[in-house]
Amino acid sequence: MKKNKILPILLSAAMLFTACGNNTADNKDGAKEETAKAESFKATEAGHNGDIEATVNFEGDKIASIDLVHNETEGLGDEAADKIVKEIVDKQSINVDTVSGATVTSTALIEAVKAAIEESGRDLKLYEKESDEANKETETKDYDVVVVGGGGAGFAAAISAKEAGANVVLVEKLGQVGGNTLISGGEYAAPVNELQEKEGIEDSKELYAQDIEKAGGKKELIEVLADKATEDAYWLRDDIGVEWLDSLMFFGGHSVKRSLIPKNHTGNELISKYKTKAEELGIDVLTNTDVKEILTKDGKVSGVRAESEDKDLTINAKSVVLASGGFGANAEMCYENDNEVDEHVLSTNSPGATGDGIVMAEALGADTVDMDKIQLYPICDVETGKLLYVGDTRLVGGALLVNKEGKRFVEELDTRRAISMGIKEQTDHVGYLIWDEKSNEKTGTMKSNPEEAESLYERGLLYKADTIEELADHFEIDKEALLETVNNFNENSKKEQDPEFNLRMLGWTIDEGPYYMLKAGPAVHHTMGGLAINPEAEVQTKDGKSIEGLYAAGEVTGGIHGSNRLGSVAMADITVFGRIAGENAAEHAKN
Ligand SMILES: Cc1cc2nc3c(=O)[nH]c(=O)nc-3n(C[C@H](O)[C@H](O)[C@H](O)COP(=O)(O)OP(=O)(O)OC[C@H]3O[C@@H](n4cnc5c(N)ncnc54)[C@H](O)[C@@H]3O)c2cc1C
Repeated sequence: MKKNKILPILLSAAMLFTACGNNTADNKDGAKEETAKAESFKATEAGHNGDIEATVNFEGDKIASIDLVHNETEGLGDEAADKIVKEIVDKQSINVDTVSGATVTSTALIEAVKAAIEESGRDLKLYEKESDEANKETETKDYDVVVVGGGGAGFAAAISAKEAGANVVLVEKLGQVGGNTLISGGEYAAPVNELQEKEGIEDSKELYAQDIEKAGGKKELIEVLADKATEDAYWLRDDIGVEWLDSLMFFGGHSVKRSLIPKNHTGNELISKYKTKAEELGIDVLTNTDVKEILTKDGKVSGVRAESEDKDLTINAKSVVLASGGFGANAEMCYENDNEVDEHVLSTNSPGATGDGIVMAEALGADTVDMDKIQLYPICDVETGKLLYVGDTRLVGGALLVNKEGKRFVEELDTRRAISMGIKEQTDHVGYLIWDEKSNEKTGTMKSNPEEAESLYERGLLYKADTIEELADHFEIDKEALLETVNNFNENSKKEQDPEFNLRMLGWTIDEGPYYMLKAGPAVHHTMGGLAINPEAEVQTKDGKSIEGLYAAGEVTGGIHGSNRLGSVAMADITVFGRIAGENAAEHAKN
């Protein structure tokens, strides 16, 4: 999603002089006093989605404010730009850090501001001071184990390391812990679990491993996952206090129904219980603390360097666990690794998923695997990238996906990737899901996600109407074509046929009002690639050696999910390998 930031007042470089033509003002005593001259200069640099125009407003030599006009990606580039502008003005310095995940935007903006300063004739050196750095407090802390990232893998590691006797700190760069785990559904694939037994579902660890292995992940890692997934789900219940509901979910790609559901169907059930447990155990949790570098001494990991708003922090620790998540919110890293992902594909991820752990470990010679394997989700908010649960009507009651021309273009139950790519190729790079009241009732997601539905209605992205014609009018879709598409589908579906797209769920129709339509687009959902680890969660170099003292778990790693992470397997992965990483990091710190 892009947006324009319109300047309150636009000034060209040719219009150098603004408000105060007169540099002096009378004070009470009638004496003349110098006042700062206000003037503005503008410069332009190429950003991610076109030019970034920065107008620097001076009061004397002070940068009073900076106005921007740009078209950078909403939620990513625009937030980075706002952050950088604030820092430049606060620090009166262009020596500010670029924002990870938005380096092109950041660099272009800083360059535009530099050019505007130069254009003004002022000495750039005035604005190159390391202003805050000099004032920044430095602090050193000593621990046995430092865990980088406060999502599910990070908490599993920190708690396991603490329970194994280590002195542990967990460091989180955002203002709150949770990461993608917090915003997830929290569903957890556990083979041969107690609910399966109750329902008479036959399952085995071997079948679980086979299902996951189909996407090409590493056998030795998958076997560990299959072996420990269920006992670790019980650890979450019995040791951490996570409440699993009394029913199971059946995700695509699994041979049998085996996925546990947390209370309220949300990963917040895990994170809130983890927070309480970490507090009980006395684990230090530092938020708003961004880990920038893994430190080494004599070829061994010796801790991390981190930065907070007011502090440069060195944390000495014999073991470092990277649990910093994937790179799904780092647009540039996604574009670099997967050439089918571009600005028309947003992200469902937490803003902290910027791949920092991968970059930091690579600097120490770590190997990566499957970096080009990125999972997309097709039905997401076209403005924010949020995964839309309302769109699950497609999977339960049935919904058709059409384009602006009123035509279907893909099988609605094809793979997430195929549907995502199909949508991306359509007019405006969006698709429109249409369903009727029968399907709505059967699915029930509108009822169970009232806030999501409300927000979509308010922004006109979801529309309810008595007739299909009204839906077409609202979204400016070809009315005749849409009616023809729906009528043809209804007739064929009643005969369990879909000659054009072979939809695998038939027998339902769109013929009972009110009708619903949802505008949706694809977004990056999961990054399967990441750091190479062995079954002990030790980070591996390109020649297959472990980097002493460096462990990794969760979405920062690669090699388990191959080309397609099955629904609900990530929760098991982050828990199992988080625990292994924590236990081994604690053991290593003892030696
Ligand atoms: C909307 C959504 C729904 C999902 N639903 C499910 C589901 O139901 N079941 C399932 O199995 N999977 C699901 N997934 C996938 C799953 O949530 C993730 O793969 C998993 O939560 C990743 O856990 P993690 O601990 O590795 O990373 P995260 O939970 O993302 O945590 C990483 C943390 O590290 C922090 N961090 C990053 N860099 C730094 C740094 N430099 N310094 C300090 N901290 C840093 C981040 O801010 C973040 O808080 C879903 C994903 C999404 C986006």
